[in-house]
Amino acid sequence: MVDRCDVIVIGAGLGDLASAATLAKNGLSVLLLERHHQPGGYASTFVRGRFEFEIALHQLSGLNLKEKSGLYPFFEEIGIMDRVEFLELGDNYRAIFPDIDITIPANREVAEGILMDNFPHEAEGIKQVFKTSFGTSDAIHYLERGEPKLTQEQLQEYLFSKMDKTWGEIVNSYVKDEKLRAVLSVYWPYLGLPPSQISYLIFAIAFASYIRNGPKQIFGKSAMLARAFVDIIEENGGEVRLGCGAKKILTEGDKVKGVLTDNDEKINTNYIISNVNPITTALNLIGADKVPETFFEKIRSSEVAMSLVSAYMGLDVSCEELGIDDFEIWYYDTYDHDRVYESMKKLGDPELVLLTAYNKGDPHFSPPGTSVIVLTAGSAAEPWYNIPPSKYVETKNKFADMLINKVEKYVPGLREHTEVVEVATPITYMRYSGNPGGTYLGFAYTPKDGPLSRMGNEGPLKGLYFAGAWTQPGGGYDPCMISGRWAAEKVIKEIKK
Ligand SMILES: Cc1cc2nc3c(=O)[nH]c(=O)nc-3n(C[C@H](O)[C@H](O)[C@H](O)COP(=O)(O)OP(=O)(O)OC[C@H]3O[C@@H](n4cnc5c(N)ncnc54)[C@H](O)[C@@H]3O)c2cc1C
Repeated sequence: MVDRCDVIVIGAGLGDLASAATLAKNGLSVLLLERHHQPGGYASTFVRGRFEFEIALHQLSGLNLKEKSGLYPFFEEIGIMDRVEFLELGDNYRAIFPDIDITIPANREVAEGILMDNFPHEAEGIKQVFKTSFGTSDAIHYLERGEPKLTQEQLQEYLFSKMDKTWGEIVNSYVKDEKLRAVLSVYWPYLGLPPSQISYLIFAIAFASYIRNGPKQIFGKSAMLARAFVDIIEENGGEVRLGCGAKKILTEGDKVKGVLTDNDEKINTNYIISNVNPITTALNLIGADKVPETFFEKIRSSEVAMSLVSAYMGLDVSCEELGIDDFEIWYYDTYDHDRVYESMKKLGDPELVLLTAYNKGDPHFSPPGTSVIVLTAGSAAEPWYNIPPSKYVETKNKFADMLINKVEKYVPGLREHTEVVEVATPITYMRYSGNPGGTYLGFAYTPKDGPLSRMGNEGPLKGLYFAGAWTQPGGGYDPCMISGRWAAEKVIKEIKK
């Protein structure tokens, strides 16, 4: 049993799995502590009856298999591409509004064409939205790896001049039609804030990434990705302990000096990367008295992003038999995204439901003749806090009933063919991940906490780093793995110094 290692990594979410694999591949001794009995954090699965459900992943962004770009070089270098198969999903989304039903494919020219066919009077605005978003995405790539080459003027136009803007401000400056504005902003619940509040930068990056790279699923589900990271860490001499979390981060003055595990074992180190949210890391793992007040001031000036309710459903028929033809369908009751966002703060009838039909991405997702779908609605944690424990199960089942009723109007027979349903709320996500409010995004993506301006990897003590959704560039599979890689590279640089 080790009593000292180069780096201790706390939490096996995607952020720290990417950190630990990078560190181990670079020859450092790494110990990864995860409190849960399986790795991956949100990126994992659970089983009910004869169905295995994907907890989180609907669409993986940022991986271009054809051009071998985005996450590809990192995955290739670390060994993920040899172990995990990624499945192309084709279309980005189908969105059904009160009188528009539109499908946006993962192809810039075709997507622009479809939008122009539906909104010919806004052809110029559509061109501008695509040009600007793709320009912003290029600018981010340029900052990260010097490609594609951009001038200072282009960086100013696509990036710096828009860092304090919302997506809504930019889209509204090009497009006047309210319905088109809504159609261009369908993805916002993935990112937690409506167009009027969300950082332009993060939305533009996600918008361009999904269209440019195409969304992906993971063959064998997210557990395959998490497991592959664990294998890479172990094959390179690292140790992964599941079912054993970190109880305390031990400090000496303003530096970290080790970790006390849940088993009361003390392990010394000069470097820790925490995948545990910064609030819990500072208050519970370190102790408020040992953390500079400026760190808490920074946290208090940010908001925590919202959470979700998901109804995970195992069906005794195929998607085709139920007439479900698309991987992902957004059912919007209104074109007013602010109204949808406000409805997520209450437990009333949701104004938006997202249907994800996993077998449309992977025909082998569930046993032959069956299918798995997940119905999702954005939901703030606060209304759930007020439900007494005796009413909790009844309340979440009632909420799931509302989701099913809404979708059943489009998918007749859905309820009748449901063999298993499991409902997760913000409380469920909080309990399993430890994230305040069950958020999947960390700090809310306001322009102030955009991908380049939210908390960095550096923690409030020497030797302490963060990885995962709360830090730059933010929440989601792709950003969390990037943040983990960045944290590891910073530690490697420090150690080499
Ligand atoms: C329903 C849902 C759908 C989603 N869909 C998508 C999608 O389609 N595309 C996408 O890109 N993203 C999606 N996301 C978001 C994505 O899953 C998350 O942003 C990402 O997985 C968060 O990773 P993380 O590194 O921040 O760690 P987390 O997943 O938050 O994991 C943190 C880990 O730390 C562990 N931990 C906590 N305390 C301790 C301790 N003291 N000691 C040891 N371990 C500890 C926890 O057990 C957990 O394993 C979705 C999320 C959810 C919930």
